Amino acid sequence: MTTENATGLRIGQFAALLLSLALLTFAGAAEAATSPSQWVKSFWPTAKKAGISWSVYNKALGGFTPDPDVLKRAGSQAEFKTQIWDYLDMTVTDDRIEKGRALLTQYGPQLAAIERKYGVDRHICVAIWGVESHYGEVLENPKIVKGTIRSLATLAYQGGRRAKFGRTQLIAALKILQRGDVTPAAMTGSWAGAMGHTQFIPTTYNAYAVDFDGDGRRDIWRSPVDALASTAAYLDKMGWRNGETWGYEVEFDKGFDYSLVQKGGSRSLGEWQKLGVHRVGGKNFPRQGDSATLFVPAGAQGPAFVLIKNFSVIKRYNNSNFYALAVGHLSDRLRGGDAFEASWPRNERPLTTAEKEKLQKLLAARGHYDGPIDGKIGSGSRNAIRDYQMKVGLVPDGVDSVMVLQRLEASR
Ligand code: CA
Repeated sequence: MTTENATGLRIGQFAALLLSLALLTFAGAAEAATSPSQWVKSFWPTAKKAGISWSVYNKALGGFTPDPDVLKRAGSQAEFKTQIWDYLDMTVTDDRIEKGRALLTQYGPQLAAIERKYGVDRHICVAIWGVESHYGEVLENPKIVKGTIRSLATLAYQGGRRAKFGRTQLIAALKILQRGDVTPAAMTGSWAGAMGHTQFIPTTYNAYAVDFDGDGRRDIWRSPVDALASTAAYLDKMGWRNGETWGYEVEFDKGFDYSLVQKGGSRSLGEWQKLGVHRVGGKNFPRQGDSATLFVPAGAQGPAFVLIKNFSVIKRYNNSNFYALAVGHLSDRLRGGDAFEASWPRNERPLTTAEKEKLQKLLAARGHYDGPIDGKIGSGSRNAIRDYQMKVGLVPDGVDSVMVLQRLEASR
């Protein structure tokens, strides 16, 4: 896990997003004038000041050479054009549900003890384990797993936008080695330094990792129990509410005011209910007083949710709504819950920039829109889409869908 969010740094995420990664050629190291050995020498005073001994430093970084693969990945730009249902298909798989359920049984007593100590739902901890590393499976994959010191030193050495992250995490990683929780050879992780079963970056490890199996070492690499407890300890510190879930799938009354979705804001579940928001399947919200926000990630054609406090706690693990929904939903499935009731608009695809411009032009021609024709769908464009949808009797969700564009084109 990482506090440097939205960077797609984790092994699990990385694996899940492989398909959507567009790798650009690495532009060249900003500090290419410095040789690796000179750089190691120049970084020593920083490490020494942080309390790292020379023997630990020299053992970890003597003979350092940058990892070309890390350089390439650090210079690449991820294009997050994945649709939410594709992301969920990749993360909440039958295999993950089945394995997770088996592991819940296998680690039952330890998970119960973790739950007692930290007050964090075991299904959430196991879901994070599943999404982050496929329950440790990817830690065995030599194509993905790298020596953490070399990866972080490469990020620090190459300069550029990840250099500061690399330096901070490298110091934290050296502290881990100095404490003796793990040997340099066994300290492995993603190319960007997320380590072990539940993918902690070194600074988070130092702040939150715990030894739960009692062998004296916080071994998130080989002890799933340590990793799960560390995850629970972290979520607890981030404000996890014991005994509560992340949110609920909901459906709206006919005539529900869709502008409330775009206005955002929190209301109690009881207030939402009065406005026409109901839990699917005729179930009641367990606590009417919980403060909740609406989340309708694919517009009126897809599932809708209300999110409560713990959703934002999951996002402290990775600041992504997709991620938090996947973890929350997987946890429900692990507990025996059902798939979402509403289905995703799987035939939908994102509009291209040219199509978005066309949409804006057509909305402008009909008097709904007077903003720039720039292919950027902001609040002005969404309001215009809603305006148009209301006029022609569509559900006014303000989503720039293919369907809306086609409808506009057909009625020109
Ligand atoms: Ca341990």
